[in-house]
Amino acid sequence: MPIATTNPATGQVLKTYDPMSAEQIDAAIERADLAYRQLGRTTLDQRAGWMNAAADLLDAERDEIARIMTTEMGKTYASAKAEVTKCATAARFYAAHAAEFLADEPADAAAVSAARAFVRYQPIGPVLAVMPWNFPLWQVMRFAAPALMAGNTGLLKHASNVPQTALLLEDLFRRAGFPEGAFTTLLVGSEAVDQILSDPRVRAATLTGSEGAGRSIAQIAGRELKKTVLELGGSDPFVVMPSADLDKAAEVATTARCQNNGQSCIAAKRFIVHADVFDAFAEKFAANMAALRVGDPMDEQTDVGPLASERGRDEVHAQVRDAVEKGATVLVGGEPPAGDGWWYPPTVVTGLTPEMRMWHEEVFGPVAGLFRVSSYDEAIEVANGTTFGLGSNAWTRDEDEQARFATDLDAGNVFINGMTTSFPELPFGGVKNSGYGRELSALGMREFCNTKTVWVG
Ligand code: NAP
Repeated sequence: MPIATTNPATGQVLKTYDPMSAEQIDAAIERADLAYRQLGRTTLDQRAGWMNAAADLLDAERDEIARIMTTEMGKTYASAKAEVTKCATAARFYAAHAAEFLADEPADAAAVSAARAFVRYQPIGPVLAVMPWNFPLWQVMRFAAPALMAGNTGLLKHASNVPQTALLLEDLFRRAGFPEGAFTTLLVGSEAVDQILSDPRVRAATLTGSEGAGRSIAQIAGRELKKTVLELGGSDPFVVMPSADLDKAAEVATTARCQNNGQSCIAAKRFIVHADVFDAFAEKFAANMAALRVGDPMDEQTDVGPLASERGRDEVHAQVRDAVEKGATVLVGGEPPAGDGWWYPPTVVTGLTPEMRMWHEEVFGPVAGLFRVSSYDEAIEVANGTTFGLGSNAWTRDEDEQARFATDLDAGNVFINGMTTSFPELPFGGVKNSGYGRELSALGMREFCNTKTVWVG
C-alpha cells in the first residue's frame, strides 16, 4: 500500500511519501533507545509537564489537526474535533495519575520472611506501535500517553493512508518538550514491521488493527520472545430485551453503528432483538438510519462521511450483496451511490443466516445486521456466537437480566443501556480473536512495565 494522503470524499491523491530505508529505520531505533536512557534520568514531574504541554498544543491546534484527519480518512470534521479533545483529556489524565499508577506497592513482608517487600513498576524500553487509520489520533494517544509517562519511548508505524497525522504526532511530542527520539514516526509499510520488531533494541509491540495483522505481529513477537498487546476487530452485539426503553435503544443503536462512518472496532454491528419488541425496534431503528445525512465530512450538518478506502467500501458492499443473494432482506440502503469518493449509505439488513458472511464477519461500514431471538438464552447464544469478543451492549430495565448479561456476555466490555465507548479511567480490550492485553487505566500503563518484585531481608 503506498504511503499517501488520498481524500476519500473525492478519491484524489493529495500527497505521497517515500518509505524510510532500512538505514533510516535503524537510525530511528537507535535514537529511540538513546531517548529511553535519557527519559530514565527525568522525573515524573518533568514528563507530566511535557505531557500537559502536549495536551495544551492539541487544544490550541484542534481545528487544524481535525482538518488533516478528515482529509486523510473521511471522518466528519465534528467527530475529528471531538477526537482531538479526547486525546488532550487522556494526556492530562496520565500526567495526573502516573505517579499513583507507578508507585511502589508494598507487600506483606512478614508473609514472605522479609524486612521489606514491594512491587516496583519500571519502563522496558522502545515499544513499536502499529496503528490503524480509523481513530488516527486517539489510537496512538491511548498508547503514547501512558507509555511516555512510564518512561518508555514510542516508535509509531501508522497506517499508510494517514501519514500527515502520523507526522504531526511526532512533531507534537517534540514541541511539547519530550527529548528527540522519545516518540518517532516511521514512515514505512507493513513489510518493514519484521525488521523493526526483530531488532533487539525494540522491547515490545502494541497493535490496533485487523485480526490478520494481529496474527502476523504475534508470530514475529513469539519468535523474538517479545510482549505484545493486540487490539483487534470486533462484531459487537447490541441486545434489545422486552423491558428496554425502545426509543432510546433505537437512537443509541443508530449512533453506535454509524459513528466514525461505521468504521469503529467497538461499533455495535449485530442487533439482536427479542421477538416481543422486534418489529417495533426494527421500525424505529430503520427510520433513524434512513434519516442520517450522508455527505461532505467537512459540513457540520453531515452525520456520515465516506469510507476511508475504495477497498473498504467494496468489501462492505460485497458482504451486503452476499447476504442478499442468499436470501436476506435490505430494510434501508444497500446500494452505493455512483460518482467519485467511497460512499456507502446507512444500511439495515435482516433475515441473516449462518451461511451468510454478515453472520460471522466484522462489517466495517454503516451496515447493521438485525437478528430476531425468542429468549434470553438465545440472545446470549447469538451474541457470543462469533470468534470476536471486544465490546457488547444489552438493553434491559430488568435488574436481574442486567446482572446476567454482565456475566454471560463473552466480551472485554459490557455496556448496559448505553453504547460501548472508551474512557481513560477504565480498561479497554478484548477476548477471543479481538485480541489480548488492556489499554487505558492503570492496567494499560503497566502492560509495558517491568513488574519487579523487590525483597529485602
Ligand atoms: P489493518 O489492515 O490491520 O491495519 C492496521 C495497521 O496494521 C496499519 O498500520 C497497517 O499498515 C498494519 N498492518 C496491516 N497488515 C500488517 C501485517 N501483516 N503486519 C504488520 N502490520 C500490518 O487494519 P484496518 O483494516 O486498516 O483497520 C480496521 C481493523 O482494525 C478492524 O478490524 C477494526 O475492528 C480494528 N480496530 C480495532 C480496534 C481495537 O481497539 N480493538 C480499534 C480500531 C480498529 P498499512 O496501513 O501499511 O497496511
